[in-house]
Amino acid sequence: MDKDIKGITVKKSEDFSEWYTQVVQKAELADIRFGIQGFIVHCTWGFSIIKKIYEYLEEEVEKQGHHAFLFPTVVKEENLTKEKEHAGFTPEVFWVSEAGSKPIEERFALRPTGEAQIYPVYSLWFRSHKELPFLGYQSRIPAFRNEMTTRPFLRGREFLFFETHNVYYKHQEALDQIEKDLETCDDVIKKKVKIPFLYFKRPEWDKFKGADATFTPDTLVPDGRRLQIASTHDLGTNFSKAYEIKVLGEDGREHYCYQTCFGPGVWRIMAALISIHGDDKGLVVPFDMCPIQIVIVPVIFVNKKEESEKVIKKCKEIEEKLRKDGYKVKFDNSDNTTGYKYNFWELRGVPIRIEIGPKEISKKSYTVSLRTEEGKKTVLSDDLFDKIKEFALKLDKEIEHRANDYFKGNTREAESYEDLKILLKEHRGFVKVPFCSVTNSGRECADKLKADTEGGNVCGTLYPEEERVRNGLKCVICSQKANHLVYVAKSY
Ligand SMILES: [Zn+2]
Repeated sequence: MDKDIKGITVKKSEDFSEWYTQVVQKAELADIRFGIQGFIVHCTWGFSIIKKIYEYLEEEVEKQGHHAFLFPTVVKEENLTKEKEHAGFTPEVFWVSEAGSKPIEERFALRPTGEAQIYPVYSLWFRSHKELPFLGYQSRIPAFRNEMTTRPFLRGREFLFFETHNVYYKHQEALDQIEKDLETCDDVIKKKVKIPFLYFKRPEWDKFKGADATFTPDTLVPDGRRLQIASTHDLGTNFSKAYEIKVLGEDGREHYCYQTCFGPGVWRIMAALISIHGDDKGLVVPFDMCPIQIVIVPVIFVNKKEESEKVIKKCKEIEEKLRKDGYKVKFDNSDNTTGYKYNFWELRGVPIRIEIGPKEISKKSYTVSLRTEEGKKTVLSDDLFDKIKEFALKLDKEIEHRANDYFKGNTREAESYEDLKILLKEHRGFVKVPFCSVTNSGRECADKLKADTEGGNVCGTLYPEEERVRNGLKCVICSQKANHLVYVAKSY
């Protein structure tokens, strides 16, 4: 990549969109020069972070008893339209219809999501209720949709996927799984990646195509827009009826199975990490997730050969020792200037930098900087290895604290349409309002809201539902009796 990359040239608070583009390119997260609109190259630095997200998710679902499988990336045409609502995906589908110069026997689609691909095969796999529950998942795979506007990690014609697809004999087991999926979001997205979010139950008109109910953790990007970062769906028996997934029950009769599927948006989690944790110097990454956790920068002077050799020897020694302790370390012995090295690693979000020069060697200490703090600390040689642990914790706490602080300040309340409109326009973020209904009868109000506010969306009700609606409260849009408190936001 370009060797002359300079730091980020805009402030995050002044031009978020340009800031995001620069971080993606300059921190070498993605290369957008592949040449086909909406398809990006995942570069090593970015993909190493994404791989970590995958590892966390795989670990969590496997703890619950899921096993991995791998289906082809293509879908049979007739299977795409079997579930009536799910057929809504077809306008976004890419078709493969030729091979060489000839049309193929029967065209097929690149998978837009997993259901139509996997469930026809599920109908062949299960015969008895005793074979259930079945908990399966696919990881590190792409999905394809013909999106018109694309942006790295937010929207692409090809994007990265993770999905569980489960089959149950009893509905309660499916509902229990939804709760476990929400716990997975907590454990991975909130605790490990340190992205705050609210859980919503989506309104009837905004459910996943073919689901009975959809639950999503949504976060807020610094431009004030809502970002859905995962979703889990109670599919009821809608798909099992469409694809004939049946088992013999205890009563000796055939029963349609219940199903759930869970799709953490691996790309979206990455987009949230970039946008929420990043600062004017570039990316900021939680300690465990960073491809390089500690960088060692030598401070040497060209005309002092003997001293320089001592410094390099010391750097190598520390690198070796930290690596043995299990850290991902880099000794940057390149020809770049010290200042360039500082900027380069800060831009990529490396949590800890250790500087070693003649001064440090003579004082038996090191100069250490944390990515989340201004200024430098002096650490005595003997204390370094204990201090690293302490610094890692401190950095993670600071990342978490900043993210939560920013998130908390972005939920407001309104009881009139005028107030709602002003809040959406001036502050963006979430606005909590009384609303008539999250069943399809409320859709007209949601549509009106969208039209009046240039894209203000009803995210849904908090899950579990937080509080009952006070008597006498009216829907801010139609003034009918309010049955719910919903959250409204502009969204990606
Ligand atoms: Zn209404």
